Amino acid sequence: MTDGLLVIGGGPAGASAAIAAARAGHQVRLVERTAAPSEPVCGQFLGPDATIALARLGLHPADLGAVPIDRLTLAHGRTQARVRLPFTGWSLPRSVLDAALLEKAATAGATISRGRAVRAVARDGEAWRVRLDDGAELQARQVVLASGKHGLRGFARPAGGSVGVKLHLRLAAPLDATVLLPGSGFYAGLQPGPDGLANLCAAFAHTPPRDAADFLARVAAASALGARLLAGAVPAQARPGAIGGVPYGWMFAGPEDGVFRIGDQFAVVPSFCGDGVAMALTAGLALADGLATGPAAFHAALRRRLARPMRWAAPTAALFAHAPGLLVRAAALLPGGVRRVAAGARVRLVG
Ligand SMILES: Cc1cc2nc3c(=O)[nH]c(=O)nc-3n(C[C@H](O)[C@H](O)[C@H](O)COP(=O)(O)OP(=O)(O)OC[C@H]3O[C@@H](n4cnc5c(N)ncnc54)[C@H](O)[C@@H]3O)c2cc1C
Repeated sequence: MTDGLLVIGGGPAGASAAIAAARAGHQVRLVERTAAPSEPVCGQFLGPDATIALARLGLHPADLGAVPIDRLTLAHGRTQARVRLPFTGWSLPRSVLDAALLEKAATAGATISRGRAVRAVARDGEAWRVRLDDGAELQARQVVLASGKHGLRGFARPAGGSVGVKLHLRLAAPLDATVLLPGSGFYAGLQPGPDGLANLCAAFAHTPPRDAADFLARVAAASALGARLLAGAVPAQARPGAIGGVPYGWMFAGPEDGVFRIGDQFAVVPSFCGDGVAMALTAGLALADGLATGPAAFHAALRRRLARPMRWAAPTAALFAHAPGLLVRAAALLPGGVRRVAAGARVRLVG
């Protein structure tokens, strides 16, 4: 049987594309390699653009149990800065978000195949032949690559050097803000989450932590606040999740091959400096219209929309990496500047 549209990956990009395309009347199949909701490496912060995009998809973070976030604290060494954000963000575990999106996609009429991974995609005349890990073969008229942090053979992104690491943990004391904790060779974000489970997530430029204890020790050593917040913290997982080769700052620039790319398979914004999930959702929403124009025109339009948030993210990420002390001192002296950076980094793709 030939599907109209085959979406590879059921993260925010793939699921939102499946919802929008199915609602627009396309016959959609989505293949997601995990068999059940999982926790990918992600800071789980949703900004206002993600909230707007989710509303268009019929979801609201509060209804999913997300924790509202309206304060940001930055700390390095003995210096810290605390500011009120110019918007309310949300902290929501990705397992909850991704499951809710896939449920919406199924309700919209998409066929969801879970627990199966796409291994190869090849052109077959006017259609595409898609081979799965169980040996099954599917055919589709159009293919969307939304496999996020994971590459697909034949559609490689350049590999970056960064390693993303994530750990859910119970803190000894309650947390009421997102806390950014840059250190030597990494920057970390700590967020409160539902059910008292905080999320510690970090981007390491090189040498990721060996285990949960090493992760907590390295973040705690970078600031007095980090040490205080993480004292007595109990990891909820035996090992932190990790993802290597993250190509921060990369954006797809061709060559075109007839496949639509969305989410992290189109552009990878530096963590904590931009809204990766909002970018993924917005690209997914835009895909329903893009199907009529073809991949090249769709990608060109997406490139124009993403250029601004990608530009904003680059200098902030460089400061995190190379001058974290300067960044936190500047934030302490100029809290209005932090609010402007937070507002400027907004995707503003929707709404
Ligand atoms: C350290 C770190 C922290 C971050 N923090 C935040 C944050 O706080 N807020 C934010 O907005 N963004 C954050 N991001 C970015 C965000 O995680 C991504 O931008 C977002 O997940 C992209 O969505 P996606 O759907 O493109 O990819 P993903 O979320 O990676 O989803 C891809 C899906 O495809 C599936 N898949 C992969 N390969 C195959 C295959 N071959 N066949 C079938 N299925 C497949 C995977 O299982 C997965 O479910 C962070 C990223 C990192 C690395």
